[in-house]
Amino acid sequence: MDKFSHFKLKIDAKPTMFHGKTVRKNLTQSLWLKKIRPHILKENNYTCVICKHRPNEENYKELHVHEIEKYDFDNGVVKLIGLDLICANCHAFQHFKRTQLVLSPEQLDRLIIHFTKVNNCSIEDYKRYRKKLQSFAFEQSIERIKTQEKKSSRTNIDHIRFAIMGDIPFKDLVIERLKQKEVYYEYS
Ligand SMILES: [Zn+2]
Ligand SMILES: [Zn+2]
Repeated sequence: MDKFSHFKLKIDAKPTMFHGKTVRKNLTQSLWLKKIRPHILKENNYTCVICKHRPNEENYKELHVHEIEKYDFDNGVVKLIGLDLICANCHAFQHFKRTQLVLSPEQLDRLIIHFTKVNNCSIEDYKRYRKKLQSFAFEQSIERIKTQEKKSSRTNIDHIRFAIMGDIPFKDLVIERLKQKEVYYEYS
C-alpha cells in the first residue's frame, strides 16, 4: 500500500456487519442538525478537510459530517473516534461500496476525476490503487469470516452497540442519548 500512502483521498468501506449502524442514526435531528453539524462546520471553517473545497453559503449542503469509525468485531461495537467535515465528492470515497451501488457510471467517472485531481495522479494510478485495495480487502475479509465463525457462538452480533472514543462536540449529550436507547458500550 506504500506506493499510495501520499494520497490525500483514499477509498474506504464499512464492514458488512456494521452497515447502516451509525451513532448519528441514534441521535435526535435537533442534536445532530442544530448542535453538532454547525459546530463541525464552523470548526473546519466551512472547508473540506481532504480537498479544501469551500462552497458558498447557499451550498453548505455540499459539506457532510463524516463519522470516523473503528470496529470491534468481537463485541459488535462501532467505535466513533471523530467527526470530519468533508465534501460530498470526497465523502463518496469513504463509503465506496455504497457509492458504487447507487451512482450511475457517468457519476462514477466524475468522481474518479475528482480523485485524480485531489491526489494529483493519473486514471491509471487510480486503477492500480483499486486493484491493490481489492486484493487486500479480499484477504482481510477471509480473515474476518474465520474469526467471526469462531466467536459467533458466544457473541450476539445482532445487537450492534456504539462507543465514543474521540473528543466530539456535545459528547455528554451523545452518550446520554445512546444510553437511553440502550446501545451504549463502555470500555473499561
Ligand atoms: Zn473534498
Ligand atoms: Zn461518512
